[in-house]
Amino acid sequence: MKKYIILLILTISAFAKVNVAVSIPPQEYILEQIAPNLVDTEVVVKPGNSPHTYEPKPSQMIALSKAKIYFAIGVEFENSWLPKFKAQNSNLLIVHTDKNIKKYPITSGQEAGELDPHIWLSPKNLKVIAKNMANALIKVDSNHTKEYKDNLNQFITKLDKLDKKIKDKLSKLKNRNFLIFHPSWGYFARDYNLKQIAVEIKGKEPSARELISVIKLAKKTAVKVIFTQPEFSQKSAKLIANELDIKVVKVSPLKKDVIQNITNFTNILAGE
Ligand SMILES: [Zn+2]
Repeated sequence: MKKYIILLILTISAFAKVNVAVSIPPQEYILEQIAPNLVDTEVVVKPGNSPHTYEPKPSQMIALSKAKIYFAIGVEFENSWLPKFKAQNSNLLIVHTDKNIKKYPITSGQEAGELDPHIWLSPKNLKVIAKNMANALIKVDSNHTKEYKDNLNQFITKLDKLDKKIKDKLSKLKNRNFLIFHPSWGYFARDYNLKQIAVEIKGKEPSARELISVIKLAKKTAVKVIFTQPEFSQKSAKLIANELDIKVVKVSPLKKDVIQNITNFTNILAGE
C-alpha cells in the first residue's frame, strides 16, 4: 500500500506545473516555447499598459504569492515592485533574465538617454533571455531537464532562422532610418544596422519646437511610415504623418508572439 502511495505522489509531482510569473507577454511566449505544459504563467503587464510605470493589481499580488519563480526582464516597474513581491513570498526565486545582455543608452536620433530596457525585440537577445529562463526552470524542476534543454535548442534554431530571414530581407534596404513614437526597437536597429528616430523625448510628448525638429529630420531621412503603439497617445504621430504625408503603423512591443511581431516589423521596413 505504501508503495502505491509513494508512486502516486511521484506521478502527481511529475505532472504538477511550476507556478511562474513574468513581467511582459513576450516572456510568456518564450515559456510556451521552452516549457509547454510545464508551467502556469501569470503575466503582470498586459498589452495596453506601460511596463515603465505599471502598478500590479491586488489579484495579481495574490497570484504572485503562489509563484515559485519571477522572471524579471529589467523594465522600470520592477525596480519598485520586485522587493514587494519578495516581501510577501519569501520562497519566490527572482531570476533576472537580462543577465549577460549588454545594454545601451536609448537611441532616438536626437539625443542619447538612459539605458534602453527594450531588450526583447532582438533575436540575439531573445536567445540569451530564453537560456536564462531555461536554466532557472532546470534548477527548480530538474525532473524535466531534458525537455527544457531540447525545447531551448529548438527555440534557438527558430531564432537563428528568424535572424537569417531579417538579414536577407533588409540587406538591400537603402533607407535604413525609421520613425517611431516610443523608442522600443533600439536593439533591433543596432543588430541590423538601422537607425531609430523617436518622436517621444525622454518619455514625454515633444514640445512644438521639438516636433518641428523631428519633422525636419524625418523629411531629411525620407522615412515612409511612422510607427506608433497602442500604449501611448497617437496625437503627435498623426500630426507628423499628416505633415509628411506618410502612413501610421501601429506595432506593440508587448505583443505576445514576439517572433511574429519582429517578422511583421521587418516586412513593413522592407516595404512589403
Ligand atoms: Zn517602452
